[in-house]
Amino acid sequence: HRRRGRGPHEPCARRVLVFPLPFQGHIDPMLHLACALHARGLAVTVLHTRFNALNPALHPEFRFVEVPDGTPAEVAAKGGIIDIILAMNAAMEASTTVRDVLASVVADEGQPRVSCLFIDANLLAVQKAAAAVGLPTMVLRTGSAACLGCFLAYPMLHEKGYLPPQESQLYTPVPELPPLRVKDLIFSKHCNHEMVRRVLARATETVQNCSGVVINTIEALEPDEMQRIRDELADLPVVLAAGPLHKLSSKSTGSSLLDQDYSCIKWLDTQRSGSVLYVSFGSLASMDADEFLEVAWGLADSGHPFLWVVRPKKVGDAESESARLPDGFEEAVEGRGMVIRWAPQREVLAHPAVGGFWTHGGWNSTLEGISEGIPMICRPDAIDQMMNTRYVQDVWGAGFELEGELERGKIKDTIEKLMNEREGAEMRERAKQLSRMVADCLENSGSSQIAIDKLVSYILSL
Ligand code: UDP
Repeated sequence: HRRRGRGPHEPCARRVLVFPLPFQGHIDPMLHLACALHARGLAVTVLHTRFNALNPALHPEFRFVEVPDGTPAEVAAKGGIIDIILAMNAAMEASTTVRDVLASVVADEGQPRVSCLFIDANLLAVQKAAAAVGLPTMVLRTGSAACLGCFLAYPMLHEKGYLPPQESQLYTPVPELPPLRVKDLIFSKHCNHEMVRRVLARATETVQNCSGVVINTIEALEPDEMQRIRDELADLPVVLAAGPLHKLSSKSTGSSLLDQDYSCIKWLDTQRSGSVLYVSFGSLASMDADEFLEVAWGLADSGHPFLWVVRPKKVGDAESESARLPDGFEEAVEGRGMVIRWAPQREVLAHPAVGGFWTHGGWNSTLEGISEGIPMICRPDAIDQMMNTRYVQDVWGAGFELEGELERGKIKDTIEKLMNEREGAEMRERAKQLSRMVADCLENSGSSQIAIDKLVSYILSL
């Protein structure tokens, strides 16, 4: 199976537009997909919002167009993803700006003809604008196949009374979505449930109205979940598992909203192989001041080397402060622990010194951990993180959940279990097997490469 990219002087056959949702976990997979399509000979124009604007310098091979999104400053300043999704869509739907921008980008005669626009499922307003100018849309789902299955099932989950979750039912199985229990379903304790429901209803509408779906997962990781989605979306010509997207193209730079501190790689170089616990809770998850203290002292008391990302409250806002480390902490962990504001996470996880990952279970982090064969402690916060944790623990066996109150003694024991005990060693072995599965899907005849081939043929047919 031979694949041909574009020679240095050959013109691109066609152009695709991509429009990510402006949050870290959504931007990177979209740009990685764009890299993979560009490597197969397609020209790429990236549309991006003014909010969390992207840096064109990271991708000189693409054209960038900024779209004034109209998100009210006070909503953007608060930084809640659900509020921002709703406000941004409402503002875009209230004006013709997006439609006008799309029309002018499509009409650019100096560029190859546009085949389609890839959008995040949360950008229904952009899909409507694209439809108005006759442009087909493809959806990139940046979560798992199980997560998309849960989106599609959301009305049923309410009709049957699983949602909103009742305290007494948290461990009740949901037989319609095995292996999930009520506590694993999409939910957020940080915002009004009706708003989550609206966001998911709109995302489902976007998926149902598009011309094809690409999911950042691996066929062999979620075979039953992919089958269920294909059955449900039987009218769509393509429903592809093309992940992990960050591994698909050799030139897979994302677009970090914060400066990544590369000094940690030098520090990792000085640490013993497999000895370091990498601790990061992604770009949005939050913890209160007491929990933060317990995490700090749990890491200190564990005696293990660790690299801990303590990011500013809001990613994308350089002004916002990181939480302050407790007095005496730095002395207690000197030489053994490093704390940074933001990591080059994919490089960190690929570093031989890293032997464990304490994560919030965001889908990108989960895929990045699996890709490098790193076992995980999962501390889910909201949305799809509970279900990702459920899969990591009970389906793939590559980690376990740290449940209940965060307390330093419990944290110390949890780290010990992952890094030193037999159970942790078994999870490490399972994680290594998963990383081999990832390597297989990226081979020339691997499932994700074939998915991208199919995608390119489909794009060229549009
Ligand atoms: N990330 C990073 N540096 C950090 C922490 C996270 O580059 O210090 C990246 C990480 O590699 C991942 C993304 O931020 O690709 C977070 O996405 P995820 O889906 O895991 O979580 P979210 O932030 O959406 O909750």
